Amino acid sequence: MSSKLWPTCRSSGAARVRDGCQSRRTAIAVKVVVVGGVAGGMSFAARARRLAEDAQIVVLERDAYVSYANCGLPYYLGSEITERSALLLHTPESLTASLARDVRAGHEVTSVDTVGHVVSVRELSSGRIYDEHYDTLVLSTGATPIVPPIPGTGLSQVRVLRSVPDVDALQALLAAGAKRAVVVGAGFIGVEVAEALRHRGLDVAIVELAPQVLPVLDPEMAHNVESALLGAGVRLHLATSATAIRQGGGRGVEVELANGTVLVSDLVLMAIGVRPETTLAVAAGLAVNSRGAVIVDEHLHTSAPDVFAVGDAIEVVDAVTGSRASVPLAGLANRQGRAVADELFGHGTVLPATFGTAIVRVFGTVAATTGRSEKALRSAGIVCHAVHLHPAQHAGYFPGAHPIDLKIVFGGDGRLLGAQATGSEGVDKRIDILATALRAGMSVDDLAELELAYAPPFGAAKDPVNMAGFIAQNVLSGTLTLWRAADLDEPSFGTSFLLDVRSADEFAAGHLSGAVHIPHMQLRARLAEVPADVAVRVYCASGFRSYLALRVLRQRGWKDVASLSGGLVTLLAERPALALSLTAGEQPGELPRAS
Ligand code: FAD
Repeated sequence: MSSKLWPTCRSSGAARVRDGCQSRRTAIAVKVVVVGGVAGGMSFAARARRLAEDAQIVVLERDAYVSYANCGLPYYLGSEITERSALLLHTPESLTASLARDVRAGHEVTSVDTVGHVVSVRELSSGRIYDEHYDTLVLSTGATPIVPPIPGTGLSQVRVLRSVPDVDALQALLAAGAKRAVVVGAGFIGVEVAEALRHRGLDVAIVELAPQVLPVLDPEMAHNVESALLGAGVRLHLATSATAIRQGGGRGVEVELANGTVLVSDLVLMAIGVRPETTLAVAAGLAVNSRGAVIVDEHLHTSAPDVFAVGDAIEVVDAVTGSRASVPLAGLANRQGRAVADELFGHGTVLPATFGTAIVRVFGTVAATTGRSEKALRSAGIVCHAVHLHPAQHAGYFPGAHPIDLKIVFGGDGRLLGAQATGSEGVDKRIDILATALRAGMSVDDLAELELAYAPPFGAAKDPVNMAGFIAQNVLSGTLTLWRAADLDEPSFGTSFLLDVRSADEFAAGHLSGAVHIPHMQLRARLAEVPADVAVRVYCASGFRSYLALRVLRQRGWKDVASLSGGLVTLLAERPALALSLTAGEQPGELPRAS
């Protein structure tokens, strides 16, 4: 049997060898031990086998399951995935047979000796302890759900969702008759589980510390998700936290909130986030950051020779800000696992920084993000611009057109910094285009020029991504000046001329207090009604007609004219309370679509 061979110049660490040597073919056999047999670990092992048929690959997983679909757990809980077996993509036996790996489920690694290149392993079924030598060690130990230090989290009704046993425990609570659920945390997993439990007929409440759901999004972009949750009957308790849980009467528990509310529930899901599971790495003396995430270099080396780490356990570099971050996403873990295999057995790898591209579906509303949000950039002191638009996902005249709420964030030099979108269809496509644009380092000029596939059922001759680029170009060139919700708080706003350019019906249905109504098509004939010596703040439903009005006024000599970014749709998402000041509680009118 031939073996994977290392170069003779190897001193310590496979990757260090790569840098100095062209060839790795000497007579030292390679044995790679992988700790963690799910996303990152199995991705490494699969790629490693494809590149190194003769390497010895041992995967040690403490859980009973390997290579399962943890991203699918909420959908199994919600009965959208009906067969539990569908989650279990492989068994240790099938992996051993297909990829000639030694996959050991129920084997927990209890310590790592990075000097002696040995891990200690406990076989959980027997209690047997044994040592396993490695040439290279790959840690993919994942993350652990954070459980807040509040009373009552040990009660049997209080659960987390990370693994197959976790979902089994939740299913058992449902089978035992749980009718009410409290989900603590409105991040991706929290809202997915809220949806799942609602599908199962439970009365569901969400408790979230932030004043919005999906705190990764800018607040106005989370608004649609909040509406979707509320529309589906999920109760939202925002800007508060769970402070204690206690056994109530019968099967139920009482969840006490910081604002004094007490929620009675049969099931509590803790979904406030995860922390890197790096107990082993810390005990082994590997360098970790303040959150306990393993620090790796661009080749995914840890601080110890011949030890790599991937997945939720590691710190990554934010591609927009260059700061260090934890981004616990499956795509990253999979690519990092593959990258380590390439580093060891292929052409080497340099891990790119991450944009944190993510997507979630909540009761038919899709929300997605890539790059940094506006609020994250501003809190990092990074000056940026943002534009909002509400185009249809495909030609407006083609049946089934639905709006996408799209926001892009960009620098003064035009560099794209982030994007977010919500809607029912076409969100995934636009965010994936924008994620690709971010990876390519594109500017808003590039977005304007992208050639995207178009026929009426699929998009528009000017795709929403092109439109975002056009609007951003207009902002940077000064062709368009935007005003935002925050301007309402400026004392100077009160002295401006507020101009509503929507139709008469829309204006009658509801308008901002103090607005003067001149439909945009009448503007040229009624210019005398617009004072030239004060700031003019124009708005419409989506920001398109107000842009047209702005261009008329600017070209006729008005100096200080600004158009409401994203129109009333965005304004009311940012300031929902303003809806009350609209006549008869009506919503803004029909949204013109770019053709
Ligand atoms: P994991 O896949 O968690 O694997 C780590 C494994 O290491 C675990 O099985 C653990 O038992 C094992 N382990 C830890 N310590 C030891 C030890 N000492 N000895 C032996 N074994 C050990 N991401 C997305 O991008 N999109 C999604 O839609 C999405 N949905 C998700 C839904 C849920 C409910 C969850 C929980 C996660 C979701 N994720 C999603 C995140 C994604 O699953 C993770 O980012 C990914 O699994 C991380 O891979 P990993 O290899 O780092 O960790």
